[in-house]
Amino acid sequence: MTRTVLIIEDEHKIAQWVQTYFEQAGFATLLAADGKTGLMLAQTKTPDLVILDLNLPGLDGLDVCRAIRGDKTAVVAQVPIIMLTARVEETDRLIGLELGADDYVTKPFSPRELVARARALFRRLDRYAEAPQTIQDGDLLVEVDAHHVSLGGAALDLTPNQFAVLVALLENRGRVLSRAQLIELALGHDYEGLERSVDVYIRQLRRKIETDPANPQRIQTVFGVGYRYV
Ligand code: CA
Repeated sequence: MTRTVLIIEDEHKIAQWVQTYFEQAGFATLLAADGKTGLMLAQTKTPDLVILDLNLPGLDGLDVCRAIRGDKTAVVAQVPIIMLTARVEETDRLIGLELGADDYVTKPFSPRELVARARALFRRLDRYAEAPQTIQDGDLLVEVDAHHVSLGGAALDLTPNQFAVLVALLENRGRVLSRAQLIELALGHDYEGLERSVDVYIRQLRRKIETDPANPQRIQTVFGVGYRYV
C-alpha cells in the first residue's frame, strides 16, 4: 500500500524538494501552497501524513493544525502531522505540540532527515498494528491494533503521539516512568522532541480520560520523577 504525504508549504522550491525526496522514497504526494488548500486536501484526500509549514499566507500552520485536529467526526483528525518551522523558540514548538502536531523539523532541514522522521512515525504506527491486543482500565478501553480508544463506550480522538504515550503508561501500569523513559517507550529513540513535550501529551490525555483533569485519578504526577498510570 502506497502511503500519501500531503505537503503544505508556500515556498515552492522547498515544497518541490520535499516532494521529490518523498516520491523517491516510494510515497505518493499531494502539494498545497497555502493553508486553505492544504486543509481542503487533508479533509477530502485523507492523506497518511501531513507535512505542515508553520508560516503560511492566510491560514497559518497552527490554524491548519487546529482545524484538522478539531474535525472530530473525520478520520483526518488523527492523521500524523510533522510541522516545519523556522521559529526556533521552544514556546512555538510547544504550541504546535499542544495543538496536536506529532513532530517538528526546524528549517533549514535536510529532506532526507524529514523522510527518516516520517518513516519513524509510520514504524511506530505499524508496530501497534502487528501486536493486536486490548488494554482495559475500568471504562477506558484501548484497542491497540485498531488504534482505537474509548471511554464509557464513546470514542476518543487521540493523535498518534497521545496514543503512544497512553499505551506506554498502560503497559507499565503502577510503574513510575521518567519523561525520558516515556519518550523512549512511546516515541522511540529517534524522536528528537523536548522532554517537556511529554508534559503536553500528559495534559492532553488527562483532558480526555480524566473525570477531573485537575485532580487526575489515572495518570499521576510523581514529583521530580515523572508519571505513573495508577
Ligand atoms: Ca512558509
